[in-house]
Amino acid sequence: MRTLVFTAEIDNRHGVGIVSSRIGLSSPALLFNPQTSLFGLLEKEHRAQPVDCVLIDECQFLTREQVSELSDVVDQLDIPVLCYGLRTDFRGELFSGSHYLLAWADKLIELKTVCHCGRKANCVLRLDAQGNPVHEGKQVVIGGNESYVSVCRKHYKIALGLTRKESE
Ligand SMILES: [Zn+2]
Repeated sequence: MRTLVFTAEIDNRHGVGIVSSRIGLSSPALLFNPQTSLFGLLEKEHRAQPVDCVLIDECQFLTREQVSELSDVVDQLDIPVLCYGLRTDFRGELFSGSHYLLAWADKLIELKTVCHCGRKANCVLRLDAQGNPVHEGKQVVIGGNESYVSVCRKHYKIALGLTRKESE
């Protein structure tokens, strides 16, 4: 089976993309940025040699137009497209790609991670170099010292001081 793997060109220091999984498998990947014409590229590849499947990692960085193009890849080229990525950023806002994938995808599969308290982790905290939660900033930071941790909604709000005060 010929699968084409893509990942986001958010960090082009390496020049090439690699998609790796936590169980140790990895694959070279083509890179996409907001200007990449995914339908045109895949149509050309498919014509040269049939493509059986497309896998997009870091799909939260797709634009609205690119998600639309990928739906045309499914509907017109008849190639299944699997996208993997985050739903929301550290501010709790949807990424553009996630927004339109949630709206238009045929099938959604939620991969669950767990907060330190054992609840489902559906939020992401951005931590600065000192380990303090960051409230504001750009959606994507490249090459910084911040890190990210998945937590449940309750602990997300506690970390950012967003919990409602109890009324007397
Ligand atoms: Zn928690």
